[in-house]
Amino acid sequence: MAPPPSLSYELYPPRSEASCESLFKTLDQLCATRPDYVSVTYSGSNDRKQNTLALLDHLVHETPLTPVAHLTCVGHTVAELETAVRLILGLGVRGFLALRGDLPGSSGHAASSSQDLPLELPFARYLVELIRRIESEDFSHLAAGKVSVGVAAYPYKHPESTSLLQDIEILLSKQRAGADYAITQVYFDNAQYAGLLDSAETAGVSLPIIPGIMPVTSLRRLIKLCEMSGVPIPLKLAGALENADTRLERHQIGVEFAYQQCRAALDSGASGLHFYTFNEHTAVLDVLEKLDIAPYTSRFPHRLGELSFS
Ligand code: FAD
Repeated sequence: MAPPPSLSYELYPPRSEASCESLFKTLDQLCATRPDYVSVTYSGSNDRKQNTLALLDHLVHETPLTPVAHLTCVGHTVAELETAVRLILGLGVRGFLALRGDLPGSSGHAASSSQDLPLELPFARYLVELIRRIESEDFSHLAAGKVSVGVAAYPYKHPESTSLLQDIEILLSKQRAGADYAITQVYFDNAQYAGLLDSAETAGVSLPIIPGIMPVTSLRRLIKLCEMSGVPIPLKLAGALENADTRLERHQIGVEFAYQQCRAALDSGASGLHFYTFNEHTAVLDVLEKLDIAPYTSRFPHRLGELSFS
C-alpha cells in the first residue's frame, strides 16, 4: 500500500496583534491534522524578516509543529545570508525553502518591499549551495541529512523564464546543488502539474515535486493571486465564484475546486500536498476532510459535492 501523502502548510508572519491572534487560532486547528511541517514565508525587508524569525522561534518552542524557514537571496548580501542560515539553524529549525525572492519592481510574494534590496546571489541554486556549505562546516554534528532544503518549481512558466524547459533545467540545477524536494507555485490547471512531473522526470529530476494548492474562496483574492504569480485566471472557477450568492456557497466552491486539484495531483503521482493557507484554516481543513486524510470534522455541510469544473 502507498504511504499516505505528506501534508504541509504555508503560513506568513502576522503584521498586527489582531492577525497574530487569528494565526494562533489557525495554528491550533492545523496542529490537529498533524502536518509533516509548516513553512513560514520570508521577505528580505528589515521590518518583515524579524517577524519571520519570531514566528519560527514560536513554532519551535511553543508548538509541536516542525517549521521550515523560507529564505530569499533578495534582500541580503552573502555575509547576511550566512548569518541568517546560522541564526535559523541555531533556533532549532532544520528545514529551509531556498528561494531567490521576487525582484524589485515585480509583484510577487513579498516584492512590494523589495525595492533597493541587495542581491549578491542571483539565483536560488546558490542559496541551496550556501545552506549545504554551512550545514557541513558549522553543523556537522547534526546527523547527515538532518537539514532539509526545498526549492520552488513552476507548473506554469516562471514570468522571467524563456520556456517551461528552462524552468526544468533550473530545477535540475537546484537538485544538483543539493535540494531535497520542490514545492510548486500555485496553479489551477491540473494538466500543467502533470506535465511538469513528466518533463521533470524526462530531464532527470528525481526529487519529489509537491503541488502547492490554494483553496480560493473569493474572486477578488483569485484575481490578485493570478496577478501576483503570473498564472492565468481559471475562468470556470472565477465564473463560479462570481455567480455565487453567499459566502457559504463561495467557500464550498473554493473547497471543491481545491479538493479536485488535490485528487488530480495525487492521481498524477504527487507524494504530498502543500497548502497555501493565507493564515486561514477552514477551507484547508474542509479540503482535507473531503480527501479523508486528516483527523478533522468540518463545520460546513458539503452541499455542493457534485460540482464539476472539468
Ligand atoms: P530561481 O530558481 O533562482 O529562478 C528565478 C528565475 O531566474 C528563473 O525563472 C530564470 O528566469 C532565472 N534563472 C535561474 N537560474 C538561472 C540560470 N542558471 N541561468 C539563467 N537564468 C536563470 N518569494 C518571497 O519573496 N518570499 C517567500 O517566502 C516565497 N515563498 C515561495 C514559496 C513557493 C513554494 C514558491 C513557488 C515561490 C515563493 N516565493 C517567495 C516566490 C519566489 O521567490 C519567486 O517566484 C521568484 O521570482 C523566483 O524564485 P526561485 O527561487 O524560483 O528563483
